[in-house]
Amino acid sequence: MARYVGAIDQGTTSTRFMIFDRAGREIGRHQLEHRQIQPRAGWVEHDPAEIWENTLKTIAVALADTGLSPADLAAVGITNQRETVVLWDRATGTPVAPAIVWQDTRTDYLIPAIDAEFVKSRTGLPPATYFSATKIQWLLDNGLRDRAERGEILFGTIDSWLIWNLTGGLHITDVTNASRTMLMGLESLDWDPALLELFGIPRAMLPEIRSSAEVYGTAEAVLPGVPIAAAIGDQQAALFGQTCFEPGEAKCTYGTGGFLLMNTGTTPVRSGHGLITTVGYRFGTDAPVFALEGSIAACGAAIQWLRDQLGVLETAGDSETLAGQVDDSAGVCFVPAFSGLFAPYWRPDARAAIVGLSRFHTAAHITRAALEAICYQTRDVVEAMAQDSGTALDCLQVDGGVTANALCMQLQADILGVPVSRPAVAETTALGAAYAAGLAVGFWDSLDDLRANRHEDRRWQPSWPAARRTEGITRWRAAIDRTLDWVSVG
Ligand code: ADP
Repeated sequence: MARYVGAIDQGTTSTRFMIFDRAGREIGRHQLEHRQIQPRAGWVEHDPAEIWENTLKTIAVALADTGLSPADLAAVGITNQRETVVLWDRATGTPVAPAIVWQDTRTDYLIPAIDAEFVKSRTGLPPATYFSATKIQWLLDNGLRDRAERGEILFGTIDSWLIWNLTGGLHITDVTNASRTMLMGLESLDWDPALLELFGIPRAMLPEIRSSAEVYGTAEAVLPGVPIAAAIGDQQAALFGQTCFEPGEAKCTYGTGGFLLMNTGTTPVRSGHGLITTVGYRFGTDAPVFALEGSIAACGAAIQWLRDQLGVLETAGDSETLAGQVDDSAGVCFVPAFSGLFAPYWRPDARAAIVGLSRFHTAAHITRAALEAICYQTRDVVEAMAQDSGTALDCLQVDGGVTANALCMQLQADILGVPVSRPAVAETTALGAAYAAGLAVGFWDSLDDLRANRHEDRRWQPSWPAARRTEGITRWRAAIDRTLDWVSVG
């Protein structure tokens, strides 16, 4: 019997294939980067053919390195960068345009005319260039509409593109990826005719929406006989890999930006506080599980800026040593709103600020303020989630590059007032896809099996007295106001 499960983790900058055993331990991996194509300011493209080739290569190399054969894999799951749009020729399977990546803002001129309340009520998403719909609309408006209307062109997010290629022509997406297109009804879990009309998108080009964990087909192109048994967007996969299966459980992934997702159970919770309502995952015919999502524009980006722009750090890891030289930021606040503020403020026009400086302050204080900013921003999202969901968090599961910083994670526990837990397997995104695929084929029997696999690497307990937390939050709010009112100056 096959002893392992594979996961394709197709991210924004790279593609990796990872292999896990029944205990959720990593057995092997291979990773390849792909080109970031920026033909004009605001445009970000990927080559879908390159992504597919890298997928094939990473699978082949990971198998060769571990000495495994396809028969050793019980199933493969896919997790992927979300929202990115691929269009290809139904007859030949050839892409008809570069992939338009989620970061691409070429469609910003389309957003103001969209009825925000209408779209939000149907999809749970505030209209933004970020989601897939206006990217498809743009491609159709720029020379592909006739062919799309004749049924010659197919659309997919990256999961669909990979499933199509792996299976030799199945046109399928999963419900988490579909929920990020701004074309799926959150209640119907199907393509919404009113939205298709609004964005001028022919239904014939859309994939069939399936659950996140079921056998879609076999990966004949590269792993003969191995079922493709899961597809799940990257942040949802991390929620799953962190085993946040109960309502109220939440994880935060701290990379360049930050993504906090909270499981809200089988009913979608509409946000009144700037969060996105999204599908968390769905198993086969079970009821879908929804999530609230809050994104933070700059987390690790603040550390990168101190390193690359100010030059006060040699490596990101040095931030821990430098910030550790002082007991606190001595009243300095740093709001890293370099590209505006995301949840819960949604102020694209906000700009960063460091406030409260005197001659006494040093790079150590500013670095400590940057670490605190990562934590206060996360707290703002956690508070919005508590208000929307009525559930207070009792522990935050964390992953991502910044969680290597123990001081930052201690500050996070202090600023939240709840414990912070980091798992032994850092690759929660790939693990989540492997878990979903393994469950679908009976490699794991139940969610309890997966919970039993979760081993904590480290836990941080809150240590600040309430008064210190309140003082910090008051100062943070005042600093946020500075980044907002600055834009009205001049
Ligand atoms: P991404 O997938 O967005 O590239 P990663 O999860 O790889 O993100 O994390 C990279 C980010 O983490 C970078 O912004 C980097 O500055 C930050 N980072 C890495 N190590 C540390 C550390 N020890 N302390 C603080 N930030 C760190």
